[in-house]
Amino acid sequence: MTDDSSRFGFETRAIHAGQEPDPRTGAVIVPIYQTSTYAQDGVGGTREGDYEYSRTANPTRTALEQQLASLEGARHGLAFASGMAASDAVLRTTLRPGDHLVLGNDAYGGTFRLIDKILTGWGVSYTVANLADAGAARAAVRPETKLIWCESPSNPLLGIADIPALAGVAHGAGARLVVDNTFATPYLQTPLALGADIVVHSTTKYLGGHSDVVGGAVLTNEDELREQLFFLRNGAGAVPGAFDAWLTLRGIKTLAVRMERHCENAERIAEALIAHPKVAQVCYPGLPGHPGHEVAVKQMRRFGGMVSFRHAGGEQAALDASARTKLFVLAESLGGIESLIEHPGRMTHASAAGSMLQVPADLVRLSVGIEDARDLVADLLEALG
Ligand SMILES: *Cc1c(COP(=O)(O)O)cnc(C)c1O
Repeated sequence: MTDDSSRFGFETRAIHAGQEPDPRTGAVIVPIYQTSTYAQDGVGGTREGDYEYSRTANPTRTALEQQLASLEGARHGLAFASGMAASDAVLRTTLRPGDHLVLGNDAYGGTFRLIDKILTGWGVSYTVANLADAGAARAAVRPETKLIWCESPSNPLLGIADIPALAGVAHGAGARLVVDNTFATPYLQTPLALGADIVVHSTTKYLGGHSDVVGGAVLTNEDELREQLFFLRNGAGAVPGAFDAWLTLRGIKTLAVRMERHCENAERIAEALIAHPKVAQVCYPGLPGHPGHEVAVKQMRRFGGMVSFRHAGGEQAALDASARTKLFVLAESLGGIESLIEHPGRMTHASAAGSMLQVPADLVRLSVGIEDARDLVADLLEALG
């Protein structure tokens, strides 16, 4: 099931796209092709199509790429060694020295660091804007703008960008729209169908889903861009190993059922928090009071497993609550089956301190896992005291 996979439902594609039984042995599960090189029939001639060296291509990785492309409704998928390697490849293929990009004001801290500390040294400039407001995005665009880089929902404030509206702004300016779809996953939202040009993922998060592998991916419908990304990845070498590709492939098979439970549990937690006297604000796009709720309803299937809240007691109270949970593990990262809690200001987003992306000091971020929701709510209420 590789070519006309779009006629199958999401769950079917997650399990079968790119994953035919092994032609030689009949193995139902794609093997881990733990090999760096491939025998050739003659000098310069390769056997079995395209494989000659695993930096260039590896069959386990190819299966993952076909699975991801099918789920995002993309013509092309490329897997990378990490989400940051995927983002770096997109930035370095779509931008040249002198070009400008517009970045959301609550982008992932690592993305901001890559652009602010590395890309600027390469002659690229950027403007930070509130991308939940398409008018603010339009105002930030310049003649040399080539990219708008957006996350929706965003990390850690769960802001929602109107993807079709942003695509209109980007295309009106002769630029491309990139959506980092890590928080939503293709199960909840498919940005290419909403007008985006490029999707990036940290597959480390919900796609892998079990907190046991680091990886990234880029999806696009543009043939020429795919060639440029492939060339850069082969040239610079940020590829995932076969075992990492296999773990991600396996994780994605259960994405749909995991996401349903993540969403279910997050909704229960958001409801419990909103009623709590020590909680000043709950950031969850599923809540009718969330400023992006209406847009989220239009472009997402459900609202995801990430919930952030502001502690009414300020920074120290937020730090204390983060350290007091017993089931929620105090840790960076997100999207695994186990629940995690963290303080973005001191942890994931510390590198944004002092910038326009600085996050509120009283903010606590939850990655809601798929445990029993009653246990999770009880754990949080006890930690809040
Ligand atoms: C984690 C994350 C990244 C970076 O991915 P890595 O796999 O850690 O390199 C990028 N964007 C978002 C939204 C993330 O959460």
